[in-house]
Amino acid sequence: MRVDPAFIAGLPKAELHVHHVGSASPRIVSELARRHPGTVPEDPEALRRFFEFRDFAHFIEVYLAVVDLVRTPEDVRVLTYEVAREMATEQSLRYAELTCTPYTSVRPHEDGVGMPIEAYTEALEDARVAAERDFGLVLRWIYDIPGESGLPAADATLDFALHHAGDGLIGFGLGGPEIGVPRPQFQPHFDAARAAGLRSVPHAGETTGPQTVWDALHLLGAERIGHGTSAAQDPALLEHLAATGVPPTTRRCSAPPSTGSTSWQPTCWTSTRRACGSSRGRRCGPASPPTTYAGACSPRSTTTPEASTRPAPACQ
Ligand SMILES: [Zn+2]
Repeated sequence: MRVDPAFIAGLPKAELHVHHVGSASPRIVSELARRHPGTVPEDPEALRRFFEFRDFAHFIEVYLAVVDLVRTPEDVRVLTYEVAREMATEQSLRYAELTCTPYTSVRPHEDGVGMPIEAYTEALEDARVAAERDFGLVLRWIYDIPGESGLPAADATLDFALHHAGDGLIGFGLGGPEIGVPRPQFQPHFDAARAAGLRSVPHAGETTGPQTVWDALHLLGAERIGHGTSAAQDPALLEHLAATGVPPTTRRCSAPPSTGSTSWQPTCWTSTRRACGSSRGRRCGPASPPTTYAGACSPRSTTTPEASTRPAPACQ
């Protein structure tokens, strides 16, 4: 059966694994490059070539160059609002959980660069309110630790989440490289975040083996696994994920294309999802298995670490 792509494009959707800066389309990157001339080209054709990834390391290099374009609160506001515009108008998204990395914008351990966390939060929240008003798109945030920056970044990100976040924050995550970044060191941070009612959604098992996924489950209290592709190597792990209702947000492009692609755009759908429906801020609560938790539908869900291990919270 052939399905009309326009029909698919028009279906209301929820996006649960998408990164804030990583969602910037060439149009948005071009605008940011115009605001901060230098390393990233503004010209569309030059920008297309800039996005031709040679390998994973080059992908990270390009990604960080774009991250470096987000320097002011107005950059954060423009990026977020324009990403929301494209999500809603081009992909019919109605709900999205954006993984944000405030550490790379605030840069608390570097002098003379970065923005105050209060300004970062205000810009995010302004864009969230405006996106819901203008596009009917409900945005929520997941603050993630950039794993490559280690424990100082984890300490700062936890502080941002506990003491400086706006109403849109619902989750706590961990991203960046996995090799050389063991998950157990972040257990105290996830314990504290979960105790404050944030959902645990770390990346694990994309570039390392299934043990990283086990660590995310047992030590970080993961309720969703970012990518988790290596779980396929461990039948017992797959059974555990299925039995406990912890979904991996595995995407068709979990690994970035290595050559000749300009597809670094938010077009990769999660494998497990729940559309939270209305933009009226629905509450999440327990539901019956085998339904799996995928989306936290309202800010600051009030689940305790114990409650968060219950099967299948769902939208009500
Ligand atoms: Zn991710």
